[in-house]
Amino acid sequence: MPAHHANSRATGAAAPRPLVRVLLPLPLPEPYDYRAGAHPDLAPGDFVVVPLGRREVIGVVWGPGEGAVEEARLKDVVERLDAPPMPEVLRRFVEWVAGYTLSPLGAVLRMAMSVPAALAPPRPIAAWRLAEGVAGRLGSEDRESQGLRLTPARRRVVEALAGGPPRSAAEIARDAGVGVGVVKGLAEAGVLVPVSLPPPAAFARPDGQRQGPPLSPPQAVAAGALSAAVTKGGFSATLLDGVTGSGKTEVYFEAIAAALRAGRQVLVLLPEIALSAQWLERFTMRFGTRPAVWHSDLTAAERRVTWRAVARGEARVVVGARSALFLPYPELGLIVVDEEHDGAFKQEDGVIYQARDMAVVRAHLGGIPIVLVSATPSLETMQNVAAGRYRALHLPDRHAGASLPRVEAIDMRVNPPPRQSWLSPVLRQALAGTLAAGEQAMLFLNRRGYAPLTLCRACGHRLQCPNCTAWLVEHRLSRRLQCHHCGFMTPLPEQCPSCGVPGKFAPCGPGVERLAEEVAALFPQARSAIMTSDTITGPLSAAEIVRRVQAREVDLLIGTQIVAKGHHFPLLTLVGIVDADLGLHGGDLRAAERTYQLLHQVAGRAGRAERPGRVLLQTYDPNHPVMQTLVSGDRDRFLENEAEDRRRSGMPPFGRLAALILSGPDGDSVDAAARALGRTAPQGDGILVLGPAPAPLAVLRGRHRRRLLLKCRRDQSPQALIRHWLAEVKLPGNVRLQVDIDPYSFL
Ligand code: ADP
Ligand code: ZN
Repeated sequence: MPAHHANSRATGAAAPRPLVRVLLPLPLPEPYDYRAGAHPDLAPGDFVVVPLGRREVIGVVWGPGEGAVEEARLKDVVERLDAPPMPEVLRRFVEWVAGYTLSPLGAVLRMAMSVPAALAPPRPIAAWRLAEGVAGRLGSEDRESQGLRLTPARRRVVEALAGGPPRSAAEIARDAGVGVGVVKGLAEAGVLVPVSLPPPAAFARPDGQRQGPPLSPPQAVAAGALSAAVTKGGFSATLLDGVTGSGKTEVYFEAIAAALRAGRQVLVLLPEIALSAQWLERFTMRFGTRPAVWHSDLTAAERRVTWRAVARGEARVVVGARSALFLPYPELGLIVVDEEHDGAFKQEDGVIYQARDMAVVRAHLGGIPIVLVSATPSLETMQNVAAGRYRALHLPDRHAGASLPRVEAIDMRVNPPPRQSWLSPVLRQALAGTLAAGEQAMLFLNRRGYAPLTLCRACGHRLQCPNCTAWLVEHRLSRRLQCHHCGFMTPLPEQCPSCGVPGKFAPCGPGVERLAEEVAALFPQARSAIMTSDTITGPLSAAEIVRRVQAREVDLLIGTQIVAKGHHFPLLTLVGIVDADLGLHGGDLRAAERTYQLLHQVAGRAGRAERPGRVLLQTYDPNHPVMQTLVSGDRDRFLENEAEDRRRSGMPPFGRLAALILSGPDGDSVDAAARALGRTAPQGDGILVLGPAPAPLAVLRGRHRRRLLLKCRRDQSPQALIRHWLAEVKLPGNVRLQVDIDPYSFL
C-alpha cells in the first residue's frame, strides 16, 4: 500500500483526547501541544494555524497531544487549512533528516514548508454563465413583457454562452467578438451571473506511452532492469554507470516512462538545475510536455503553483535541485539522481545535508526505487555497490559508435608557455588546427575573473577581503575586485593601501578573463565566449550560450566548471584543460577523486558526435595518478587505489567524519568556546577528535571560525557521540555551532 494511504484518521483510542502536537517550521527541537478546540477530528499531517506568543503560525499536526503541560495553559488550534495533508512519508523523512544531521526538527520542517502561501486555497477563476431562463427568452423579442431586448453585440454574447460552459469575461468577449464592456453590462443587467471555476491544471501530464528511440542491446538491458524495479515497487538502489554519451539519460527516461504508466510521480535531482536547458528540451521531446521544475530561482508565484501541483499529484515529474526532496509528493514512485558524484548535492548552510544520501533515505522510507547516475561514481556509491547494498548497471560504450576522446597530458616542465601567458605551445598548435578545420574548441579553467591575486609591486602587499581570510579576485569585465566567499566588491584602489605607492598593482595568475585575452591575441579571427557563473546567471542566459555554440556562432568557449555540465556540442572536438593540477592541492580528502570526476566530465564534452575528440591536459605533475588515469581511462583501478588509501586511514566511506564549526564576531570567545569543546571531546576505541584549529577560512563574513573534526568507525554513530558531547557544553550567546555530518568542505 502506498505510504500516503497510511495517513489514517483513526487513533485507536475510544475517546480521542482533544490535544494535538503541532510542529512549527521554526528552529525548535520538538512539536508543542495545542487543544484541538473546534477541530476535534484533526489528524497527523493536517496543516493548522496556531497561536505562538502574539503571532499566529502555520504548523503541521504531528500526532496526538502528550498532555505534559496542564491543559488549561494550552491554546486552541485556530484553524485547519484546506490543503492536502503532509504525507506520512514526508513527516517520517523530516524526522529522519533532523536526527541524522542533528538539526532541530522544526528547521527541517521549514524546508518541507518552504511555500506557506501554497497552503491557502488557490484563487478560483471568476466566470460567468447565463441567468436561469435567459436562453429560452432569446427568440421571443416580439412579446415585450417577457422578451429580451438586446443589441446585436449583447445578443452575440448570450448566444456564445448559450452553447457552452461558463467562461471568464475576457474569454466570453473573445468568443463573441465584442468588448469586455459589453459582457460587464450584461452582468450588471442580471443576464449573466457569476460562478467560480477551479483554476486550470498548471502542468500537463507527461505521456509515459510515447516511444523513445530504439535502444542498443546494453541500453535495453539496463532500461529493462530499471523499469522492472519501478513496476515491481519496493526499495532498491541502482547505480547506472556509463561513460559520457553512452545514453544514461535515454535509459533512465525509460524508467520514468514506466513510473508514469504505473501512475506514480517521479523526482529527478540534477546538480545545477538552472543550467539544464538541454535536459528540459530532451524531456519535452520524449514525453510531450515540460516537467515541473523546482529550484531557488523560481518566482513566488511559480513556487506556489508548483508546490500545490506536487501536493495534489498534478505534477507527475519534478526535476529539481536538492530542495525538491522536501516537496509533498503523495505518489512518488521513482527517484533519479543524475551526476550523483557532484559536490553540489551537499547543502552547506542552514540544515547541512547531502541530498544524494538523503534521497536514498527518502526512497527507503517510501519503499520505492532510486537510480544513481554517473560516469564517475563517488567512492561512497562504489563502496555501496561492492558491499551489495546497491546494484550496478553498466553502459560501456558511447552511443552510435562515437569514440571516447583521446586524452594526452602536456608536461608543462617540458613545454612551458611564454612568460605571462598560460597556453603551452602544444595546446596553441592544437587550437590552431581545430579552428582551421572549422571545428570548435573549449578551454577549461576553474577560476572566475581576470586574476586570482593582485599584489603591489612596490611593497608586496596582497589585496585581501576585509571580511574574509581570502584574496580579492580581479574581475576586469565588471571592473571590480571581488571576494568569492562573501561577495564583497570594490574598485581597484588607486594606490596601495599598505605603502601608498600608486599604480603598482600587478595581477598574478590567470582567470578565464585573462585567458580570453591571451586567446584573442593568438587567434584574433576566432569568436570566443566566456561561460562562468558571472555570465550565466540563470536558465535563460544558459540556454542562450548553448544555442550560440550549437549554431556555430562561437569557435572557442572558455569556461569554469559550468561548462562541464551535460552539454552536447557536436562540433566540439578539442578540450584544453589549462591547469589540470588546480584542484589537487589543499588537504581535502576527496581532492584526487573530485579532480578526476571534474576533469573527466570536462573531457567528455569533446567528440560527442561523428568527429573524434581530443583532450589536452596541462600539468606539472604528469605522473600523478589522476593524470595517468585520465590518460589511460583505467577508472576502476584508480578508484580501487583511492579506496585502499581511505580504508587504511579509516576515512569515508570506510569510517565516519563529522565537523564542528564554531563561529562568532569575537575571535577570543570563539577560541575559548572551541577549547572548552576540545577539553570534553569524546574518547574511546576508534574515536579521534582533531582540533580545535583555526579553519582555513579563519574569518568568513567577519566571523572568526574554529573547527573540530570527529572521526570514528563505521559501526559507531557520530550523531550519538556528538549529542552526548554537546549535552554538557554551554556555548556563550555570541558563538554559533554548526554540525556538519559527512563533511565535504573542510574550509
Ligand atoms: P549520457 O547521459 O550517458 O551522457 P545521453 O543519454 O545524453 O548520454 O546520450 C548521448 C547522446 O546520444 C544524446 O544525444 C542521445 O540523444 C543520443 N542517444 C543515446 N542513446 C540513443 C539511442 N538509443 N537512440 C538514439 N539516440 C541516442
Ligand atoms: Zn569576503
